[in-house]
Amino acid sequence: MPQLPYIPDNSSATRSLREKTWTVVLRCHACNRRFAVANVTIDRLALAPQVTHCVHCGAQPRLAEAGNGESRLHVIIDMRQEKTSPPKAPSS
Ligand SMILES: [Zn+2]
Repeated sequence: MPQLPYIPDNSSATRSLREKTWTVVLRCHACNRRFAVANVTIDRLALAPQVTHCVHCGAQPRLAEAGNGESRLHVIIDMRQEKTSPPKAPSS
């Protein structure tokens, strides 16, 4: 499972990170099939496995409550940054 990028509190790097979106590839906890979730912002990256329904079997992730059962979460198996139009085109 790829590591989530470290997000510093408040910097220009953070702001530019937050403007980007990612495609996250998840593996369903129920049927083990893969599906992709597009247009995920950095803020929701870690949430995607917890809130996304499986497109194949419809399984919903479930977070265990304290002392009550176990979590059933999809697994992030890949993620890639989506291409966005660069803010300033390099002059050539
Ligand atoms: Zn599934």
